[in-house]
Amino acid sequence: NSEKTSKIGSRILVFVRLRPMSKKEKEAGSRSCVRVVNRRDVYLTEFANENDYLRLNRLRGRHFTFDASFPDSATQQEVYSTTTSELVEAVLQGRNGSVFCYGATGAGKTYTMLGTVENPGVMVLAIKDLFSKIRHRSCDGNHVVQLSYLEVYNETVRDLLSPGRPLVLREDKQGIVAAGLTQYRAYSTDEVMALLQQGNQNRTTEPTRANETSSRSHAILQVAVEYRVRDAAMNIINRVGKLSLIDLAGSERALATDQRTLRSLEGANINRSLLALSSCINALVEGKKHIPYRNSKLTQLLKDSLGGTCNTVMIANISPSNISFGETQNTLHWADRTKEI
Ligand code: ADP
Ligand code: MG
Repeated sequence: NSEKTSKIGSRILVFVRLRPMSKKEKEAGSRSCVRVVNRRDVYLTEFANENDYLRLNRLRGRHFTFDASFPDSATQQEVYSTTTSELVEAVLQGRNGSVFCYGATGAGKTYTMLGTVENPGVMVLAIKDLFSKIRHRSCDGNHVVQLSYLEVYNETVRDLLSPGRPLVLREDKQGIVAAGLTQYRAYSTDEVMALLQQGNQNRTTEPTRANETSSRSHAILQVAVEYRVRDAAMNIINRVGKLSLIDLAGSERALATDQRTLRSLEGANINRSLLALSSCINALVEGKKHIPYRNSKLTQLLKDSLGGTCNTVMIANISPSNISFGETQNTLHWADRTKEI
């Protein structure tokens, strides 16, 4: 039946990545409240308040299971291979897909997506893999790879590769496009890390903390692969696939699993794009026909890469520290809800 088909079409894979305890967390005397077992299971433990005599030493725990869960020892390559390499293959077949990193500020989203020069993240590894796959095809001259990197901040869209005035979203034949957005033609992986790091530098910073990317900034890398060849009858075959890799704004206070909570949050000055994404994902997960893409800039930009026959991957980033227990719990609940279809 058609409902079943549409649900299968919008399967969302959900992964969790635990980051190592930071020096700061260690110095603050924090304990680890998360355990990842067998690359799948996540155990979250709530330590009883030490001042609460009755609850002392009584631990409350919860258990979650995801498509895969990464312990703090997982490498960038492992995270990439498990979560994203299949989507890169699909893009070469002309299909769209998207990978989101979400979680509270400091949970490891940018590390997972962008990474460092020594340990490049999903964005760089995906492009590297893409070039290597193209090279292994006999017809590699027929592929064109174009990158765009943009930011949604406070419902304003900006080009991270060529900062300047805000971009206007327009609807055209191909769907919704950011008018004037730089399409960078990439020829090799080497140039990409520097390009993305520079782009990341261009993300909006909080006026009070000039070196820190604003926790309300979403960064979207779109990698479009065009394949053009003539068949035996000399007809041109043209195929385009697009992969969107998204480093979301910090999810603190904005993760909601039901429509009522979402609506009550909407009045508060909370990230509209993050809420709209939540709504779209809820609608997809519930198999609804109407997906409210129009509610934000982020969801408009991702309309052709989310739901339908697109592959969607969520990577929930969490800190091990009991200081972040509440945020970790919210993130895990939301991730758990997202995988239910
Ligand atoms: P977010 O983007 O979610 O706010 P970051 O990615 O900036 O968080 O991570 C916060 C800090 O933790 C950074 O210093 C980052 O380098 C470090 N970090 C995050 N994840 C890892 C990891 N898996 N391994 C090592 N360091 C990490
Ligand atoms: Mg970040």
